[in-house]
Amino acid sequence: MGETRRESLPRYQLFIDVKWVDAESGKTFTATNPATGESIAEVAEADSADVAKAVAAARKAFEGKWSEVSPSERGRLLFKLAQLIEEHSGELAALETANAGKPIRESTFADLPLTVGTMEYFAGFASKIEGETIPLFNGMFTYTMREPVGVCGQIIPWNFPLAMAAWKIAPALAAGNTVVLKPAEQTPVTAMELAKLVQEVGFPDGVVNILPGFGDTAGAALARHPGVDKISLTGSAATGAKVASVAAGGMKAVTMELGGKSPMIVFEDADLDNAVSGAQMANFYSSGQICSNGTRVFVHESVADAFIEKLIARSRDLVLGDPEKPETQVGPIVTKAQYEQVMSYIEKGKAEGAKCVLGGHAVSEGMPEGGLFVAPTVFTDCTDDMTIVREEIFGPVMSVLTFSDEDEAIKRANDTEYGLAAGVFTKDLSRGHRVVARLEAGTCWINTYNITPIEMPFGGVKKSGVGRENGRAAIEYYTRIK
Ligand code: ADP
Ligand code: MG
Repeated sequence: MGETRRESLPRYQLFIDVKWVDAESGKTFTATNPATGESIAEVAEADSADVAKAVAAARKAFEGKWSEVSPSERGRLLFKLAQLIEEHSGELAALETANAGKPIRESTFADLPLTVGTMEYFAGFASKIEGETIPLFNGMFTYTMREPVGVCGQIIPWNFPLAMAAWKIAPALAAGNTVVLKPAEQTPVTAMELAKLVQEVGFPDGVVNILPGFGDTAGAALARHPGVDKISLTGSAATGAKVASVAAGGMKAVTMELGGKSPMIVFEDADLDNAVSGAQMANFYSSGQICSNGTRVFVHESVADAFIEKLIARSRDLVLGDPEKPETQVGPIVTKAQYEQVMSYIEKGKAEGAKCVLGGHAVSEGMPEGGLFVAPTVFTDCTDDMTIVREEIFGPVMSVLTFSDEDEAIKRANDTEYGLAAGVFTKDLSRGHRVVARLEAGTCWINTYNITPIEMPFGGVKKSGVGRENGRAAIEYYTRIK
């Protein structure tokens, strides 16, 4: 574990009014590499005074210059941003890996293309946001306009730093809003690189503001600021409840994309090899640090043994290690606190009687020194009341449960306070659609898992949140009807 010399670190200021400035307090914090524990950047730390400046800049732009930019010109600016991100995708992927610990193959082939694609998708949308004319009586009609909501406060997590920034910024700008984005305190680096590209594109002053900082200071200040018209958060359920209640006080519009404990149901007729791929995708991709993960894997009792055997055989050799290496499939856990949380859930799983059939431990041998590595872990013989089956773990830990009929599987799948996503594996088309219709989840996949194309609306029900991101739905949530 090496403490990198502070003076040699890259430094990032706050990005306010399309300019670089220090925090009013002069404070900074350090971004680290979870694979090595090394410091990688020194970042200005925003607090309420900086939030106030950014919101004022965003308001001025919203009412001034930005309101004069035509929809198609907004689209052109977003296209230009997409192009610049694509041109810099090699460096951005490397930085994403260095700060978030994502395997470089994920950063390169998933996060960056998703980020570019998001900018492009919404760039195209900017000129296609339309109202309606509605016939009335006596030859009269009424018409609606879709207006931007205003200044949008956007708070994002550490698991997909760039892609989440794009999911927030792109639809908001396409619809004519201005934004104040707060990246997660663990992963500010690529958001600040994105700010450089925003500046290069030539967005008018104040349209995009990016404020690295902590949740209970900068984040909370953004949520309560009266000049913010909408708050959009991707984060934990606990934070979502807090932020939504603060936002409600100011009658702000909200989109909340929160946690989950999603089910994946494998029926007896499923293609088991494909179901195993789905379960891996739903639990081990990104070291299991994905809100939509299908961590409760319900398998029909008649195929459970075969499924578990295939799952272990194919998961045993997943390459855990240095995320910078191209062969690495599973990287480190993002922070020490998160790592300790994952390890404590693994201990609870064992103590409560689940059978650990794969992993179940930290790994240091063969790993970069100072890294936070947890072996992909599978528990079988799980019951619905176990802590690992009820609570979101946010690590590479899968719980396998068995069931005997469809009704039972659906009831148990829905027996959770969350409702972000769900997966159904069956070759029976009718069953697939029938089960999806009864699942309490915002996003359901059939015979695949964790595919989140930008065209597809995404979001949760129950404690997993409100509102939708992506697709046309995102535009609806970043506009209001007059
Ligand atoms: P986690 O604890 O898993 O990192 P959080 O929901 O706490 O998830 O974090 C997601 C985002 O929400 C981060 O950008 C974080 O800084 C921010 N955040 C955390 N607490 C608050 C809060 N009280 N108000 C506003 N934002 C917050
Ligand atoms: Mg938190």
